Amino acid sequence: MSETKVLLEENELPTYWYNIAADLPRSLQPPLNPKTREPLHPEALAPIFPQGLIEQEISQERWIQIPEEVREILRLWRPTPLYRAYRLERHLSTPARIYYKYEGVSPTGSHKPNTAIAQAYYNKVEGVKRLTTETGAGQWGSALSLACHLFGLECQVYMVRISYQQKPYRHTQMKIWGAKVTPSPSLNTCAGREVLERDPDCNGSLGIAIGEAIEDALSHADTKYALGSVLNHVLLHQTVIGLEAQKQLKKAGDIPEVVIGCCGGGSNFAGLAFPFLCDKIHGKELRAIAVEPEACPTLTRGKFTYDFGDAARQTPLLPMYTLGHDFVPPGIHAGGLRYHGMSPLVSQLLLDGLIEARAYEQQACFEASLIFARTEGIISAPEASHAIRAVIDEALRAREEGKERVILFNLSGHGHFDMGAFEAYLKGDLSKEKTDES
Ligand SMILES: *Cc1c(COP(=O)(O)O)cnc(C)c1O
Repeated sequence: MSETKVLLEENELPTYWYNIAADLPRSLQPPLNPKTREPLHPEALAPIFPQGLIEQEISQERWIQIPEEVREILRLWRPTPLYRAYRLERHLSTPARIYYKYEGVSPTGSHKPNTAIAQAYYNKVEGVKRLTTETGAGQWGSALSLACHLFGLECQVYMVRISYQQKPYRHTQMKIWGAKVTPSPSLNTCAGREVLERDPDCNGSLGIAIGEAIEDALSHADTKYALGSVLNHVLLHQTVIGLEAQKQLKKAGDIPEVVIGCCGGGSNFAGLAFPFLCDKIHGKELRAIAVEPEACPTLTRGKFTYDFGDAARQTPLLPMYTLGHDFVPPGIHAGGLRYHGMSPLVSQLLLDGLIEARAYEQQACFEASLIFARTEGIISAPEASHAIRAVIDEALRAREEGKERVILFNLSGHGHFDMGAFEAYLKGDLSKEKTDES
């Protein structure tokens, strides 16, 4: 039997990010200016993003060097372990060999700091003093709070009001790292004040919070805005996950046949899958499966078209699978998967048949999460439980077919801040519960 954990030395942390744009069979369609419907000039993004990130957003270079200052901070928790799920395999009596990359070991408990650290760095070196962002359940807000603190930047988080009330531990976490957290809608911005005038008790939404964060950044000269998923540069920063996994699987002596990740805006799926998809584009056999909730089925039932990234129609038009920018998903617990759109890179790969997509009901995902917690020990984030569901189904299929199959998935985070969701599941009243957005 080989090792349960395959570990890398700190000096094996990747030195380059992998940019899949260099290898796409068909290049991405450009974002459009919503007023003219002309391709957006990259400079139009300069008021909200630093040059370093705008360059990455449009780069066609295959490899982009990771600054040493970023690697130094990533080393606080990276390289992350690759686990062989022996106990889950035995429980399922499957001939499949299951591996998972565990991103829950980061300080905030998910993959999101991988990009937060990089984004804070590029803002810092260009003299930006303050970053704004939005957060729902708080995973992204806490990652950016940590990153800003480590680079000496101020951080303003607009947190969807209902989540602010329901998830007090998440904003305490952000405040520990020095962020200013404001329930949204707020009096800070015109957008917020307008909503409050109409509805003083408004619960808020991710769309409103994005509007506030962007307006705040645009109205302060020293301030820029940061986004936790969807955009090309965010997915780029997450590829450290897959690049590490490639080295780890090589040590374990296995080659993955199926790569699986849950999909909200697409960043943790992309982070794991893109380096492997590079091999697929160059001829290797591989299946990559993006897993989403049945309640927000962007890839499986959405349309590929140009759409806004936010409900307030403030962003450029992005070419992506979308349920429509005004789609409001039901209140499922996987807050991080409740996004109407999908990263243009992931969308294009699905359109071109390089990846597959699958949707599951949350009940089936919580069942899978509990099987995982009771075999492997780790309580997964509700988002990651979607990947686990797909993994279990693939492993059971391997059993039926009598096939040894190597499955790799991304365990994007732990569920320690999601006990309310697990409590509801255990009580059997999951469907009655109200939840929030990430
Ligand atoms: C935010 C989040 C997701 C969904 O976002 P992606 O950009 O699709 O990765 C998934 N899992 C966890 C734990 C998250 O925090």
